[in-house]
Amino acid sequence: VKGGATSHGAVVARGMGKCCVTGCGEIQINDIKREMYIGGYTVKEGDFISISGYTGEIFLGKVKLTEPQFDDNLKEFVSWCKEIKRMGVRMNADTPADAFLGKGFGAEGIGLCRTEHMFFQKDKIWTIRGMIMSDNPEERAEALKKMLEMQREDFYNIFKIVGDEIVIVRLLDPPLHEFLPKEPKDKEKMAEILNLPLIEIERRIRNMKDENPMLGHRGCRLAVTYPEIYNTQARAIIEAAIQCEKEGIKVKPEIMIPLIIGVGELKFIKGNIKAEIDKVFEEQGMKVEYKIGTMMETPRACLLADEIAGEAEFFSFGTNDLTQTTMGLSRDDSVKFMDEYHEHGIFKLEPFASIDVRGVGKLVKLGVELGKKANPELEIGICGEHGGDPKSINFFEETGLDYVSCSPFRVLVAIVAAAQSYIKSKK
Ligand code: PEP
Ligand code: MG
Repeated sequence: VKGGATSHGAVVARGMGKCCVTGCGEIQINDIKREMYIGGYTVKEGDFISISGYTGEIFLGKVKLTEPQFDDNLKEFVSWCKEIKRMGVRMNADTPADAFLGKGFGAEGIGLCRTEHMFFQKDKIWTIRGMIMSDNPEERAEALKKMLEMQREDFYNIFKIVGDEIVIVRLLDPPLHEFLPKEPKDKEKMAEILNLPLIEIERRIRNMKDENPMLGHRGCRLAVTYPEIYNTQARAIIEAAIQCEKEGIKVKPEIMIPLIIGVGELKFIKGNIKAEIDKVFEEQGMKVEYKIGTMMETPRACLLADEIAGEAEFFSFGTNDLTQTTMGLSRDDSVKFMDEYHEHGIFKLEPFASIDVRGVGKLVKLGVELGKKANPELEIGICGEHGGDPKSINFFEETGLDYVSCSPFRVLVAIVAAAQSYIKSKK
């Protein structure tokens, strides 16, 4: 019922290839009767409905479905598009399964691996919960040890699938509330795991709650407070890369810092990460090549892109957050009033789905110009949901981005759109 096209729930669903209709405020749910009501209809628990995640329509009953076919004709067409296009098309892939899928659709490496999404799988959520809820360095060190092992294995498996194409791993960026235990039984389990009384768990949850989570203790702010979190992740990435190289698998890891507002955070975090990576090189007796770059998700970062480009080896525009921070509209809540914005012609397009060229796009353009002028080697891409939207891809071609990155299921469309945009740009 809550959320929009770029809310984290929708992003995760899209990555999994699941339909997801968000922001449907008209639905009324009766938890006790296990029923929902919409448009004069009642749907009971267990009834079949069919959902179009594309149009947002919900149909009563089972509609006849056909599996999409990636047949030889389509494969040949995509190969022509790949020859023509200028921009790279990478995938947003958080797990080995996503990486495998996206590679099959023709993605050229990973433009965004959201490390927190790895924890949504199976029992892994308890490790990140334990780490987030640690109250002192000793507790956190214990939780981070487990996180290191899990992430090393995940990165190793992803690197092996992607091989010698770039894998950009984005360090932890959870709005923390998404990970905290909510249900009483989960709080009890957390108390058991951390060997603490329930009342202490509740106290910690209260203390950690941000009033405004999307602008709260999130992204690189976490690493300014607790450098050991990003250091551990960087260690996991580099140890996994070394393991691959030892087995003869060439890999190209790139480490990405989220949500920066200026060069100061990047310098501080990069210094910490590099020191940790140097330790890994010394322990392992060998080195691998890697890059450190940043997401561009705030207006301030775009305005100061020249300073940032002096410290970053690549930029990736996180246009979900950049739209949120530029427009001052919550990506989770704006669906509540967006219909009226369209109805009254205030917005022609949904800004979280198709880039707002005049406003957000202006910041992207500025970021590219300032960044490339200060550092001509800088590679620049985009990994927000707009990376899979043909209209936005057209704008990114015009702006001179090096690549777009989108969820595996949108890779084919992005390849075709990138080729069309390039042809258009030459006319
Ligand atoms: C973004 O903000 O555009 C982005 C890719 O990061 P996330 O959606 O994970 O916040
Ligand atoms: Mg973001």
